Amino acid sequence: MAMRDGVDLGTALMRGVTRKCPCCGQAPAFRGYLKVVDACRNCQTPLSVYPTDDGPAYITMILIGHLVIAPAFMFGIFYTYPMQVLVPVMVGAIGLLTLAALPFVKGAFLSLMWYLGLKQAR
Ligand SMILES: [Zn+2]
Repeated sequence: MAMRDGVDLGTALMRGVTRKCPCCGQAPAFRGYLKVVDACRNCQTPLSVYPTDDGPAYITMILIGHLVIAPAFMFGIFYTYPMQVLVPVMVGAIGLLTLAALPFVKGAFLSLMWYLGLKQAR
């Protein structure tokens, strides 16, 4: 399998999901909720040069949408509760889960960009 700086894709993604630097896995790649650090504190790999933009948000919504909607169909929730109850609960659940999952998906996305070497065009 291809490597980047001795790191394979799976390792890079795992480091990303745990919000660590994809290159060394030692220092955090984020400060705060979603802000990427300029460079890794441990190995000085520049991290803010990788564009993450809206990608993580789309991936997270698709992921969470499936995680919420599919079980709702499976367990027949749509036929059990009235729409006035169902719609706000589903929208709320998807919203909260998206906000909860976003930082971890963004970490994995940042790692993927780093692994592929897709830097921001300047
Ligand atoms: Zn590092």
